[in-house]
Amino acid sequence: MRQKIVAGNWKMNKNLEEAKELIKGIKKEVKNGLAEDTRVIIAPSFVNLNYATKKTKKSAVEVAAQNMHQATGGAFTGEVSADMLKKIGVDIVILGHSERREYFGETDELLAEKVNTAVANNLEVIFCFGELLEDRKSGNHFAVVESQVKKALFHLKNEDFKNIVLAYEPVWAIGTGETATPEQAQEMHAFVRELFVNVYGNETANAISILYGGSVKPANAEEIFSKPDVDGGLIGGAALKTEDFVAIIKSI
Ligand code: PEP
Repeated sequence: MRQKIVAGNWKMNKNLEEAKELIKGIKKEVKNGLAEDTRVIIAPSFVNLNYATKKTKKSAVEVAAQNMHQATGGAFTGEVSADMLKKIGVDIVILGHSERREYFGETDELLAEKVNTAVANNLEVIFCFGELLEDRKSGNHFAVVESQVKKALFHLKNEDFKNIVLAYEPVWAIGTGETATPEQAQEMHAFVRELFVNVYGNETANAISILYGGSVKPANAEEIFSKPDVDGGLIGGAALKTEDFVAIIKSI
């Protein structure tokens, strides 16, 4: 059985007071337990991670960082290391988000380094990838996704994938209100899983969770999650409101 996951990427939203409210609301709603193999993850900003890990410790809610530096430490002003995350109880990190790629110049090569640092530090990675609108329009979307996934991940060993979750996020669907159809999501997820079958075999390929991200909301979550290769969602905007996020969790 693959894990089903709903993860909320809060991006640069929610100050401490607002984070407190949202965490309280989510915790209350997931209190009565989640189905086995179902996970709920929130990714607040760095400054609120310490608070979030403390507040969620005894709950089913897990906490992820939105980014991490590839070096173990040193003169990298403004950056945060894997060890710093681990020491405050953060065991998950989102890497490769399209906003990091676009606004902060993160390349596949850099992401491979970050992935290695995360794996070496026993951090679980939610690895994001996805094509631009122009890639889809030109029919290049499979090639782009294949290249992103292979360059950042395919140097890893089979056992490393126990700690990797994939998130397909077509860039044209992020924060735009435009969602990939459930069929488009399924098609890409099946394609990616097949890449894993070819290199790592069936067992690894079938165990890896592939989340869909891009304008998931309560109204479309159930249909997207019903697809066989869609194992949950990475949620942006709709993760910022308790009732929306909880409705999405209930759709899984
Ligand atoms: C995201 O940023 O990962 C995302 C999927 O955002 P949204 O749900 O707002 O499209």
